[in-house]
Amino acid sequence: MFQYKYTLLLLFVSLLSVSCSNDNNEDDNDTPGIDKTANLQGLGDSAAQLLSDTEFTSMNIEIVYVNGYAPSQPALENFKNFLEERTFKPDGININLRAIPSSGKAPFTIEEIVEIEKETRTIYNSGDEIAVYIYVADGKSEKDEENKLTLGSAFRNTSIVLYGETIEDFASRPNAPIESDIEAAVLNHEFGHLFGLVDIGTEPQSDHIDEDNAGHCNIPDCLMRASIEFGSGIIDEIEGGRIPQLGSHCIRDLRAAGGR
Ligand SMILES: [Zn+2]
Ligand SMILES: [Zn+2]
Repeated sequence: MFQYKYTLLLLFVSLLSVSCSNDNNEDDNDTPGIDKTANLQGLGDSAAQLLSDTEFTSMNIEIVYVNGYAPSQPALENFKNFLEERTFKPDGININLRAIPSSGKAPFTIEEIVEIEKETRTIYNSGDEIAVYIYVADGKSEKDEENKLTLGSAFRNTSIVLYGETIEDFASRPNAPIESDIEAAVLNHEFGHLFGLVDIGTEPQSDHIDEDNAGHCNIPDCLMRASIEFGSGIIDEIEGGRIPQLGSHCIRDLRAAGGR
């Protein structure tokens, strides 16, 4: 029993252990009539633009999911509340959902995800509206190992992937948190990286950088933790019916960068 629980905890430890890679292909900007340049920047490059209303007063989020992997309504509501709590977007935050067929490419390299974004993304920054693309994949990351699962990645300034199959498998384990809570935690965490956390485009106002996991926070129970200590953290948080929240250090960074 203890053995089993330990295994489960190890899996939870890797819940938010996501990769944070930069990808910046200039030759992706090849659709006539649409200027994609602003959405082809590096991770964290649009943190202030996403947080404040200085340049962009509204946000348009395009969630493209493979059939059968639609994010749940409670997860989307939690995600939207999270964004509204942290940003200044007086003209609103809009979330569009669209189903597409499988790419047949699973398991995925991040290069394949970039290629899928290129083929399926339809919304780019326009006027005073900033656009974000989220792809829910029907498979796993190629980087997954037995005890290290990737549930999502933020891979460009306005691009996120969720590994829908990994999230589903994870939620189906005995004693696992409910799927919508895992989805919300991953959506919020990945968006935290678009907000430049931690120290990827947004300057830390205090010492809370996880030296062993680039882009993450070392404060216990924070949403932006890459990993958690044995016996505390994600499993307790979600099982207690609470999705992990941003800690005060991360919130201070976002406020200093123009957020709420
Ligand atoms: Zn992360
Ligand atoms: Zn934090």
